Parts: sequence; structure tokens; C-alpha cells
Amino acid sequence: MSSVDWHGHEFAFRLRVDVEHVESERYIGDYRLERVSVVNMLDMFAELGVHVSFCVLGVTAELYPNLIADIVDAGHEVYGHGMYHEPAFKGRPYREQRHEMLRMRESIADACGVEVQGIGCPHHGMADEDTLRAAADVGITYVESRIRDTESPIPVWRCIEGSDRQVLVPGGQGRGASDYTDRRPYWAELHEEAFSPTGARKKWMELIDWAEANGQMAGLVVHPWMLMINAGEVQVVRDVLTYGKERGAWFASVKGLIELSGRPLDD
Ligand SMILES: [Zn+2]
Repeated sequence: MSSVDWHGHEFAFRLRVDVEHVESERYIGDYRLERVSVVNMLDMFAELGVHVSFCVLGVTAELYPNLIADIVDAGHEVYGHGMYHEPAFKGRPYREQRHEMLRMRESIADACGVEVQGIGCPHHGMADEDTLRAAADVGITYVESRIRDTESPIPVWRCIEGSDRQVLVPGGQGRGASDYTDRRPYWAELHEEAFSPTGARKKWMELIDWAEANGQMAGLVVHPWMLMINAGEVQVVRDVLTYGKERGAWFASVKGLIELSGRPLDD
């Protein structure tokens, strides 16, 4: 049992909604469905009385600023998901990574007035040391990627090679899942099964049970475009959120996680 005080709750649940119209276009043939689905999700969250984190692509914010402003107006958090989604950050030159993050921050700020404090790296969090450095250099505090602190339930300040700055990286003790579909066969070299509402409901609720039993944080990433094609997913997301709320989870935000993590080392 971890002894984290999750803002007055015993455990945390984090729903991250990836807003990325280019993926909607690519896999289901229509970028407009991204908007339809996000609007439906905003209604669902309002009905359930929960606030979640939207991980927004810069290019989506640039082309559909009203959509991002609607998310913020509804009281949800936005943070960055990169500018274009392609290619992954990992392995690219520092200057290129930094440029993409700057563009992302500007596009999101122009759309909704929010200077994002975090980034959720695309491609299953593929990142490297230069990703951390670029993020820190453009004023991003929290970098969600595969670079984690394995010992910690909450984000931890991490020094960066070649930089005096630090960034927060996720605690590696938390557990998470993502929705899935067999509509993206070549995605990240993973074979994805067709979505199963029964299987997903069971797995995602078990994640919440695990977090509650261990005082930890469980995370779930969902994709609005998948909710348009995965039969039953809308209801499963609704059920899982309802369950998390009933069990007494803190609905984690990037902002709230940054607050939990305190000051940087030697500061
Ligand atoms: Zn994505």
C-alpha cells in the first residue's frame, strides 16, 4: 500500500483522452468524427460529473480551435500530444524535437489560451533524453513517456543530460491501459485485437480495483475516434468512470500530479 495522499483520496484514476483528428482520418476515413466524438464525450463527462485530461495534438488545435476551447470551457484539462503525431520524438535531432514542442505549445495556446504544462508523447510514449531536454527548454514541466521512475507511485523530478533543468517523469509503479481496435494493423508494431466491450470492461475495472487495493494510480487512455467505431466502447467508458467515482478515486490531472510532486531537487 503506498502512502500517497492523492489530494484527499486513497487512490487515483486518470482518464486521458487523445485528441488527434489525423488519426481519425487515417483509420476511419473522416477527421470530422473526431469532433463529433469529443463533443459527445464532453456531454458524458458533464452528466457523470467528472473532469479528465485531454491530450491534444497541436495541429488539431490549429485547425479546430473551437473544439479545444470547448474542452477547456467544460472544465477539463488540456495538455500536449506533440504537433503532428508523426514521426515519434525518439531518435530525432534535439532542434527538431524542440521546434515541434514550441509549435505545439503555441497552437494550443492560440486555440484556448492554455500554456500546456505537460506532454503525452505519441507512439506509446517513445521518447529519449533530447525529448526531455526539449520539453524543459520550452517550459514544459511534465513529460509522459516510457521514461519513468520505476520506484515511485507519483511523478518524480529527473535531471537531464546536457541541461541544468529538470522535468517530471511519471511514477513507474502506476498501471495503465489503452483502448484498442483492429483498425490500425501496422500501429507501433503491435498486433491489436478487435475491441471487446466485455473484455475491456473487466480489465479496466480490475485496474481500478488494483489501484484502490494498493493506494496507487491507474490510468486509461481512450481515443475519441475509436469510440465512433468500437461497438460498445461508449458504454464501457461510462461504466468505468462511474465505477471509479463510486470507489472514491481522485480523478488525476497533470496539474494535480505536478502539485503532488513538490519542488525540483536542490531547489
Ligand atoms: Zn496519439
